[in-house]
Amino acid sequence: MNRSLVTGGAGFLGSHLCDRLIERGDDVLCVDNFFTGSKSNVAHLLGHPRFELMRHDVTFPLYVEVDRIFNLACPASPVYYQHDPVQTTKTSVHGAINMLGLAKRVRARILQASTSEVYGDPEVHPQPEGYWGRVNPIGIRSCYDEGKRCAETLFFDYHRQHRLEIKVIRIFNTYGPRMHPNDGRVVSNFIVQALRNQDITIYGDGQQTRSFCYVDDLVEAMLRMMDTPAEFTGPMNVGNPGEFTMIELAEKVIALTGSGSRLVFQPLPSDDPKQRQPDIGLAKKSIDWEPKVALGDGLKATVAYFRKLLAA
Ligand code: NAD
Ligand code: UDP
Ligand code: UDP
Repeated sequence: MNRSLVTGGAGFLGSHLCDRLIERGDDVLCVDNFFTGSKSNVAHLLGHPRFELMRHDVTFPLYVEVDRIFNLACPASPVYYQHDPVQTTKTSVHGAINMLGLAKRVRARILQASTSEVYGDPEVHPQPEGYWGRVNPIGIRSCYDEGKRCAETLFFDYHRQHRLEIKVIRIFNTYGPRMHPNDGRVVSNFIVQALRNQDITIYGDGQQTRSFCYVDDLVEAMLRMMDTPAEFTGPMNVGNPGEFTMIELAEKVIALTGSGSRLVFQPLPSDDPKQRQPDIGLAKKSIDWEPKVALGDGLKATVAYFRKLLAA
């Protein structure tokens, strides 16, 4: 039996990952400080004999015995990661050091949830893993982008120096049920605004693009990546190459919800990347994976989730 540790396990992606790990028979230790995650995301797992929830901040050492570590702890929404930027960098960097130290002591395999943000505002499009990125080191997004870049550095140095089995995935914008309604990310914002018939807030001119992956596809890729041969480290992009402008996304959400919301334009936050689309050639080849859920279908499921949540 695998004893799997999921840091950030009470968050959006982490809670779905815990579900899949429990389903397949793992013993799951979910560690979270509940900064952006919540117990309600894993409430349905609490009585399960193979599930354990621990309140802990990964910037502090953690001594447990596990075989696999999925390191997801880190706020992912710009609103939250910019709220306490020093803590964000600490979470990525000290968190990585502690989890790598743990992996080294118990000889566990360890996966890092990195991000497309390592590419910054890219001048290569779509982004392949070999592209080194264009990241501002001193801007308001840097605590997240540079924290995640430094975490990747640490992963590769522990791999080279201590022979750790590492797996690094670069996750592109992922959405789905259990995103926090006030999380501030674009999909949850637009859906919640549409369901409340409030104005839909487009930052900038809405012509910037993102590529949106449904959570189930993402978790499948994460599990496959963890099970690749020891020598395969990544970094590997995971995301859905379907690319949309924020205006197109807003129009889809309005159509799906039948909302009377109007679009309003607000200032674009600084360093907001203009375009983003993953090159997923490596994932196709290495883990035989590509996303299956189209944006319309994933949005439908996400709208249904928020409709229920807002009615409660
Ligand atoms: P989320 O904010 O819902 O989840 C992050 C979880 O980490 C939360 O439960 C939070 O409470 C926890 N956490 C934060 N700081 C912590 C700390 N110091 N100690 C312990 N727990 C801590 O976000 P998510 O979308 O589920 O993202 C999960 C991971 O995936 C993050 O590392 C994020 O950077 C990465 N990622 C997500 C996306 C995406 O589009 N969802 C894209 C790229 C990368
Ligand atoms: N660490 C941890 N759990 C463990 C082992 C280590 O949290 O089971 C932390 C430890 O506090 C240390 C960090 O991981 O600060 C890095 O550990 P490593 O062994 O690589 O470095 P060192 O202990 O030599 O600083
Ligand atoms: N955005 C928007 N309205 C919102 C929230 C976000 O237009 O209410 C834009 C944001 O400026 C960015 C894109 O949507 O260009 C994606 O933002 P998000 O915060 O979801 O993730 P990012 O990819 O920027 O980290």
